[in-house]
Amino acid sequence: MDERATRLLLVELAGSLFARGFSVGSAGNISVRLPDGYLITPTNSSLGRLDPDRLSKLDPEFRHLGGDPPSKEVFMHRAFYAARAEAGAVVHLHSTMATAVACLPDVDADNPIPPLTPYFVMRVGRTMPVIPYYRPGDPAMEPAIGAAARRSRAVLLANHGPVVSGKTLTDAVYAAEELEEAAKLYLLLRSSAPRLLTAAQVDTLLATFG
Ligand SMILES: [Zn+2]
Repeated sequence: MDERATRLLLVELAGSLFARGFSVGSAGNISVRLPDGYLITPTNSSLGRLDPDRLSKLDPEFRHLGGDPPSKEVFMHRAFYAARAEAGAVVHLHSTMATAVACLPDVDADNPIPPLTPYFVMRVGRTMPVIPYYRPGDPAMEPAIGAAARRSRAVLLANHGPVVSGKTLTDAVYAAEELEEAAKLYLLLRSSAPRLLTAAQVDTLLATFG
């Protein structure tokens, strides 16, 4: 896919996320790796009204080359690309259900959402570490995300929201959507005792689709 097609796909997928309530206002940001750098949504932009020609273009060292200035949360994306060679795109949302789970104090810090469905396991993986709360823009967040991203495709920022990577832009968006649905199921079932996938079932899924 060439850069033009990638820009158009990013705008289309971001608009779809916005239209379905996965982001509001100027919350959330999306990036994609290119052969010569990165594209990322601009600072203060709405995922619902992106202009393909004004997406921020960054060089391989994340220096701003063109388009509008990049999201102030660009360091979250940089942490993932540095940690995961296979990551081709990163999606960060403040989506309601995943962020609700990110506000629960008593979840498992490695698996805040248990394996309820195969699709969550296939898209997000075995673990999704919870990163302790940092104020937005705190530079200490980047190494914390990077350390967790080395062992997981997605992280949950405490009291903030999810950051999800994928091999392609479409993969990363689908994983963020699956994560939001899994968070909703978890919150619906939290006061009951749902049947979870067993460790053996998770192993089989990851061996087959991971
Ligand atoms: Zn954020």
